[in-house]
Order: sequence, then structure tokens, then C-alpha cells
Amino acid sequence: MSVLVWIEQTNGAAVANSWEVLGKGRELANALAAPLVAAVIGSNVDAAAQQALAYGADTVLALASPALGDYRLSGYAAALETAVKEAGATVLLAAATTRGREVTATVACNLGAGLAPDAVDLRIDGGKLVATRSIYSNNILTDVTFSSGLQVASVRPRSFPMPEAGAAKGAVKAVDPGVSEGAIKEQVVAVKTTDSGEISLTDASKIVSGGRGVAQDPAKGFALVGELASAIGAAVGASRAAVDAGFIPYKHQVGQTGKTVKPDLYIACGISGAIQHLAGMGGSKVIVAINKDAEAPIFEKANYGIVGDLYEVVPALTAEFKKRLG
Ligand SMILES: Cc1cc2nc3c(=O)[nH]c(=O)nc-3n(C[C@H](O)[C@H](O)[C@H](O)COP(=O)(O)OP(=O)(O)OC[C@H]3O[C@@H](n4cnc5c(N)ncnc54)[C@H](O)[C@@H]3O)c2cc1C
Repeated sequence: MSVLVWIEQTNGAAVANSWEVLGKGRELANALAAPLVAAVIGSNVDAAAQQALAYGADTVLALASPALGDYRLSGYAAALETAVKEAGATVLLAAATTRGREVTATVACNLGAGLAPDAVDLRIDGGKLVATRSIYSNNILTDVTFSSGLQVASVRPRSFPMPEAGAAKGAVKAVDPGVSEGAIKEQVVAVKTTDSGEISLTDASKIVSGGRGVAQDPAKGFALVGELASAIGAAVGASRAAVDAGFIPYKHQVGQTGKTVKPDLYIACGISGAIQHLAGMGGSKVIVAINKDAEAPIFEKANYGIVGDLYEVVPALTAEFKKRLG
């Protein structure tokens, strides 16, 4: 019996959300009196494996192969299945990133296990995993229990705090992933990276979002949103209406059909607060809404509301933040 956590990495750099899951994994492993095992898969896994030890894994399974250099679902799922068997895992967890969601679903399917996707909380009850999921646009929390021996869950980013890194106590064990190039069904023909330097929405602790309220002058409106975001070190988000109107690319969309975010601070500029938008950001710790309509539904959800024109309020806030934060 063990709790196994998949540590996602790209080019040797681990995805920070994996450490949040590993931190929660420690708590679950303690409750089960079982070891906490991390699995790192790739062609260059040494740095992530050492980090996993520092973040509290008892054992790190290093599943390295040149065939696993690029992420490809069938290869990574097969390697993770090897890790499940090697660890004797009864609980398998991963961050619910795009890759985490599909790899956990594939492993659960291949091993006949139950799956709780995009869980927002996890606990042990009577020796079994209970995964809490939010459904119906975050209006209902539901507990999922498992009838299978292996219990698999992916965890929504920022559901748990980052654990403290400490002195490593465990050990790294090299495991043959049992995956050959010929057995992998996909081929990577090119890798195109988007602009770097941007703060990723799902990792962000602060987000400033713009909505259709910028329609009067979208370029200026989103420039103002961007300036406020960079003054406070925030990522830029958007409502679907702003994305659909072509004011900003889809990758910035927050909501039911966009990204789910959980920052410490969410500033909504010219966003009405439709239920589908709230579904993606309703879990934010502090919500600030700027809207010229005092009756806008976003004010019911906001901790702080500013009734006013965003073209005046946003630059005034940016200037004030710059003054105070230097
Ligand atoms: C199946 C489905 C999925 C969806 N998924 C998503 C999703 O993922 N994300 C999402 O956001 N939406 C989603 N939607 C759309 C959603 O229902 C709303 O249409 C959308 O969120 C509205 O975006 P908005 O708040 O920017 O625009 P609006 O609702 O038009 O609101 C604009 C707001 O700006 C204010 N405003 C106007 N001018 C100014 C100004 N100068 N200064 C300050 N305030 C101003 C207005 O008072 C208004 O409140 C989905 C809808 C469906 C049916």
C-alpha cells in the first residue's frame, strides 16, 4: 500500500502544482500509515527527483528513458502504470493540468480503477480516499468514494498550499519504465512555445481580468488591465465575451469553458459576473470588482467593489500601487 504522486516535468523542470499535490499526499500517507512515493517520468529526471525528496517523498521512482523525452500520452501512461505496480499504490494523484487530467484518466481506464477528476479536496475516511469535487459551476460540492483497489484523483491547481522544502530523508530508485519508442503511438513533429515571460493563469496568486466592459476601446482597455497586472505581479485573465469578441486570445479565458483559477487576489474589470465566469474564479480568496453598473451580479460575489468607469479606476489603481509598491 502506498500513496503515489506523479510529478509532472518539462525539460527537467517540475510543474509547481505537483508539489502542492505531493504536500497533500504526505498528509494522506500519514493518515494511512503508508509510504509517500513520487514518480518522475522523462529523459532527464534527476533534478525533479531530488526536489521530490526535499518536498517530502519517502521514495522517488525515477522512470527515465530517451523515448520519454517529449511528453506523449501513451508512453507516459505506460510508465506511470509501471510506477503504480512498483509502488504497490492504492492511491494515485496528479495535478489536474492538461497532462495530469489525461494521464490519470488513461491510467485509471487501463487499470480498471475509479477516477475523481479535478478534485478540490482529499481526505482519508475509514482507510479509503474521499475526493471532493465541485459540480454544477461550483454550486455543489460532492464527495467521491471508490470501489476499486486503486483510487485515482487529479487535483485542481492551487487547491492546496505549497509544502515547505526541507532536508531529504528518502531515496531515489531507478525503475525501468518498460516503454520503447516503437510502443508509443504518438509522434511529436514540432514544439511551438507561446510567448514566455507571462505569468501562467493557473499558477498565478494574483489575476487582473478584463471583460466586455472594455468594448469602447478594447486595445486601450486591455493595455490598462495589463499595466495594473504588471504593477502587482499578476497574470492577465478575461471573460469569454472579451475572448469571443477577439479582444484577447483564448488562453486568457477564465470560466466554465476556460481556465479554473484560485488566486489570492482576483480583480475583475468590466465583467458582469455571469455564473459561467464565476465557475472559473469563484474560489479566489479576495475578489475585487470594478464595474460602472452598481447592480452588476459580480458585486454579490466580490469582497470589495468599485462602482466606476474602468478607464478611470484602473489607471488610478495602477498609479497608487506603483507609488506604494515602489
Ligand atoms: C455554455 C457556456 C459556457 C460559458 N463559459 C464561459 C466562460 O468560461 N467564461 C466566461 O467568462 N463566460 C462564459 N460564458 C459566457 C457568460 O454567460 C457571459 O456571457 C460572459 O461571462 C459575459 O462576459 P462579460 O462579463 O465580460 O460581459 P457582459 O456580461 O456584457 O458584462 C460587461 C460588464 O462590463 C460593465 N461595463 C461596461 N463598460 C464599463 C466601463 N467602462 N467600466 C466598468 N464597467 C463597465 C457592464 O456594466 C457589464 O457588467 C459561457 C456561456 C455559456 C452558455
